[in-house]
Amino acid sequence: MPSGYKHGDTPAKAMVRGTISYLESQGLPVNKSAIFRHFDLSRSQGYAALSASPVPKRDDPEWGETRGRPSKIADAEVAKMEQILWDPKYEDVSLNWSGLAEEAGLEVKCNRRTLHRAMGTLSYRRCLVCGRTNTLKRHREKRSDFARKALQAYPLKEDWRRVRFSGELHFAFGLDGRMRLTPRAGERLCSTCEQEPANGWPRDIRRLHAWAAVGYGFKSELVFYDSSTSPKGTGAMSMPDYCDKVLEKVVKPWLTASGPMAFVLEEDADVFAHGSASKVNLAQQWKDMHGLRCSFSCGESPDLSPLDSLWPPNKQWTSELLKEKDKDKDKERGWEDETLKKAAREAWAGLSQERVNMWVDAMPQRLQLVVEMDGRMVPW
Ligand SMILES: [Zn+2]
Repeated sequence: MPSGYKHGDTPAKAMVRGTISYLESQGLPVNKSAIFRHFDLSRSQGYAALSASPVPKRDDPEWGETRGRPSKIADAEVAKMEQILWDPKYEDVSLNWSGLAEEAGLEVKCNRRTLHRAMGTLSYRRCLVCGRTNTLKRHREKRSDFARKALQAYPLKEDWRRVRFSGELHFAFGLDGRMRLTPRAGERLCSTCEQEPANGWPRDIRRLHAWAAVGYGFKSELVFYDSSTSPKGTGAMSMPDYCDKVLEKVVKPWLTASGPMAFVLEEDADVFAHGSASKVNLAQQWKDMHGLRCSFSCGESPDLSPLDSLWPPNKQWTSELLKEKDKDKDKERGWEDETLKKAAREAWAGLSQERVNMWVDAMPQRLQLVVEMDGRMVPW
């Protein structure tokens, strides 16, 4: 009987708790709804499973909260923690969530999940405009370790030419034809770049979520997997969706066409649906069954992914297509899903194969730099 298993519990409920506690321990994003769906539990069953956790409800300040930033943490406290995460003097300190809260002098005691939700990640900060970075010690160690192993496995640029870097792109649409990619958890504006109003982004009017892969001489189509374009949707992919809409419908034909030795699929380690959190899950089973050669990315390392690092500065740009639409009297027409998809495809087409190829060929040097810079982010 697995530890943490309780009388009257079901294995699924115990696994929900185990999964969440694992993700938290690794500092990975926790999407409860997606985890409940994965184990076929309704929302109320899922929360009931969590309530059976050894931690009594009253000690969990997040309990019962439904959305948005936890009200337990004031804006000023978030700002103080943010300042610490940007401060080079903390780069060599092994901070965990409670250490960060303590350093920032938080008055109310918050649990890890609450802090994680408010701050996004503890691992690193990277300014989307000037490229300034701050990478905390524990994350630097993880990155150095990843870089060494990756260099051992794939020392030559020819090795990297077989890799197809894959993951989800979350497009967001603002007014006046503005588009952006939703920044990663550690991607922000530094305190200097934040002062410049033109760097800001008022709000998302619509969002569109797609899976994509690129590599040397290779670029997939965008695979739109979420039918909702609501500005509230996070576009977190479910594992069954990943297996069906991506692995089965897109990757399988690649295997059939070129054989399993022709490429290695690199998957984003931070996305639960890809199956990095455990050895036994639907996605891993699919990969085993079809002999897919794959590896997980380092995680929380936008410098090591072409899907993060080849976009315009600030991950923002203007779509001429949507700008034209905006001028229409019938503005609503500009927001049809098909038009949004067209704008996303246009942006994807703008990422030139030549730049991708150059980026891929620089991979061994890039990893070498990660090692030499003690795990810090490689500027680009
Ligand atoms: Zn900056």
